[in-house]
Amino acid sequence: MLIVTVGSEQHLDTPDELNRTRTGYRKGMTDRELYQAARGSWVLGEKADGEHFALVAHRGAVLLAIEIHRLVETAPGRRAIEGSILLPGDEVHDAYVGKPVPVESYGNPVRYFDAPVGTKPCRCGCGTSLRSGKFVAGHDAIALHERVRRIGSVAQFIDWFDSMVEPFERSARRQRSDGPDTL
Ligand SMILES: [Zn+2]
Repeated sequence: MLIVTVGSEQHLDTPDELNRTRTGYRKGMTDRELYQAARGSWVLGEKADGEHFALVAHRGAVLLAIEIHRLVETAPGRRAIEGSILLPGDEVHDAYVGKPVPVESYGNPVRYFDAPVGTKPCRCGCGTSLRSGKFVAGHDAIALHERVRRIGSVAQFIDWFDSMVEPFERSARRQRSDGPDTL
């Protein structure tokens, strides 16, 4: 699990890479406002890509829990979380929100810890629970080949795949050539 620590609210003279004019925590802000204030931009290493959940902390307390959908680049070397805010009743929310931060910060605004809650099933469908990552090692290949098998041979799978993505690629090309940014 990822933990990001935010300071107190600061006003910015110019909008930052997330188009914000203020960041950090202010007493009374809504969960949505805190999510916007805390989702980036962070220096997130490869380890972050396997994380399912993020906690937002301020002054030693967890204020918000986020289910991570993806990490998006916001500036060179910096990324932001895109996800959904967890509500009461969710096991990760209930285990951490409103409680002391589960690990010491040592001054680093981004930390990781092995949480006993917040697992997700392996995407291959085998039923194994994972604390991070989408697949048990090797199960990504199993999941892929199971789909190939459902179509037929590898050659048939490629034909099918190409026929499925071709309309999207054609439409993307058309949008690009219609766009105002075309060189
Ligand atoms: Zn699996």
